[in-house]
This record gives sequence, C-alpha cells and structure tokens, in this order.
Amino acid sequence: MKLVCRFCSKDSLINWGGRRKFCTNCKHSFRTKVKGRKPARNREMYLLDRSTYRRIGKKKKYSAVTIMEKVHKEITPLLTPLDYLKKTSNLPPAFSF
Ligand SMILES: [Zn+2]
Repeated sequence: MKLVCRFCSKDSLINWGGRRKFCTNCKHSFRTKVKGRKPARNREMYLLDRSTYRRIGKKKKYSAVTIMEKVHKEITPLLTPLDYLKKTSNLPPAFSF
C-alpha cells in the first residue's frame, strides 16, 4: 500500500523528520501510522496445526510455559464457540449451515 496525502490524496510525499511526511502538492505535513510488529503466529500454530505448546516452544526457542501464556493472550479477543453460534444463528437461513 502506497502512502498518499491525507488532504489531497496525491503520493507526492517527502520525509519531514521522524515519522512526519510533507506533501509537496498542497504543502501540508502530517503524521503517518506507526508501523508495528507483525502479530505472532503462535495462535495459528496452536489452533490450526494442532501443535503442542512444547512443540511450538521448541520451534520458536521459547519455553512451553511462555508459549502457553502467549497463546492465551492471543486467543483472548477471539469468540468462544457459544458466542460464535449466537452470532451465526441470527443470520438468515440461506447463510446458516
Ligand atoms: Zn497533499
């Protein structure tokens, strides 16, 4: 995704110190979104690959306990199966399965 100006949506931006950008078209300067780290994939490894904490820990060079804590932290925002059912049962019949 290419950065564009917030005010005129042209891509004529130059660096303006730190994270700031300056648009040479409309002479505005503005902050851009902070680029963070990519989310950890421990959750996918645990839920989709059915890996054990110990196996993930060996792969990522963390202890099994650390991986367990990380996975728990990652799956907290996910819906529980009951919440998921409640959400899907409100859909029209054509879309429920
Ligand atoms: Zn602009």
